[in-house]
Amino acid sequence: MSGRRSITILGATGSIGTSTLDLIEREPEAFEVVALTAQRDVAGLAAAARRTRARIAVIGDAALLADLRAALDGSGVQAAAGHDAIVDVAAERADWTMAAIVGAAGLKPVMAALQRGGTIALANKESLVSAGDLMTGAARQRGATLLPVDSEHNAVFQCFDHEDASRVRRVILTASGGPFRTWTRAEMASVTPEQAVKHPNWSMGAKISIDSATLMNKGLELIEAYHLFPVGVDRFDVIVHPQSVVHSMVEYIDGSVLAQLGTPDMRTPIAHTLAWPTRMKTPCAPLDLAAVGRLDFEAPDIDRFPALGLAKAALVAGGARPAVLNAANEVAVAAFLGKRVAFLDIAAIVADVLDRFDPPPPATLDDVFEIDAGARREAGRAMEALAA
Ligand code: NAD
Ligand code: MG
Repeated sequence: MSGRRSITILGATGSIGTSTLDLIEREPEAFEVVALTAQRDVAGLAAAARRTRARIAVIGDAALLADLRAALDGSGVQAAAGHDAIVDVAAERADWTMAAIVGAAGLKPVMAALQRGGTIALANKESLVSAGDLMTGAARQRGATLLPVDSEHNAVFQCFDHEDASRVRRVILTASGGPFRTWTRAEMASVTPEQAVKHPNWSMGAKISIDSATLMNKGLELIEAYHLFPVGVDRFDVIVHPQSVVHSMVEYIDGSVLAQLGTPDMRTPIAHTLAWPTRMKTPCAPLDLAAVGRLDFEAPDIDRFPALGLAKAALVAGGARPAVLNAANEVAVAAFLGKRVAFLDIAAIVADVLDRFDPPPPATLDDVFEIDAGARREAGRAMEALAA
């Protein structure tokens, strides 16, 4: 790497954002921070901006601007607030941008970053699920490089034949199975948000932890993989692998299967995107296979985890279906975290919305936002029907 690379982190206070900060703060001579953003965590944002001497810090909740200004007083870091301000800093020049906002709320900022160009490290899978073709189209048009941070997609990226995809027979995503892998539906009926966010292998934000427990996360990842790796929709498989050591695999037409392995620590895939096309050191514990002892694999059970089936169907149907699935799921997960619906209701709400709401495929970003808003309205109705 020559000179310092300029970096922006969208969603800097979250699980992925703080892991990214951890890596860049170990090499302050290598990186200079343009912008850090967060939604509500003023203290976390201001502390990170001070430590990294960021040029600007943006808080999404506009009501918190005065608090952010106060927290940054005397630091020389500029303060801004509101969703539009996040989109504005995403559009500012940076060599590398981490897209780590959770949910479709990240879509406008990530599109702004893609249109500006440079390298975009994508953790925010919901944006790609909702607007995949528009995002990959913008990346191609602007010559932006989209690098996958999601551990499975980062693994596939490392094993994939980028020269000739027709040599690839299957892309196989591994899934931990989540905390309820061995549970019956009856047992899952009464699980609490506290139980559901406790992931066996990974420490992550609340929303993706719930998605991992329902297996919706793996469903979103199938759609994400389809947009990142140009093989047909029928070339993607999921296999449950409880140890989360094999992060994913690529099978070739000659029968060879390449896999990427490592300890489950998101700093490894993040570092891969930070240093790409070279490599950088990380503090991650080396993989000790003798200590792991065994690697298990099993087929996913769509009867117990219907969210995965819904996502697969949305992938095959294409059009607006993935955006509808994603928005309905965001509403249902928030309601579960708020203890307004039960765990098994999450997939039921998504299924209900998909049944009743079937808008035409989006042609523009505005179409995607309309589909997203419509699906959220329908999810609200589905929850009212449940409560009645
Ligand atoms: P998180 O909840 O820990 O952090 C989310 C970040 O986004 C925070 O900085 C928050 O302030 C910001 N944010 C939240 N709502 C916002 C809004 N409406 N507008 C602007 N900013 C907002 O989430 P996370 O676990 O870090 O996940 C971030 C993204 O990365 C998600 O899309 C998730 O699916 C993906 N991802 C996470 C992991 C992981 O290990 N955590 C792994 C793979 C992919
Ligand atoms: Mg993943």
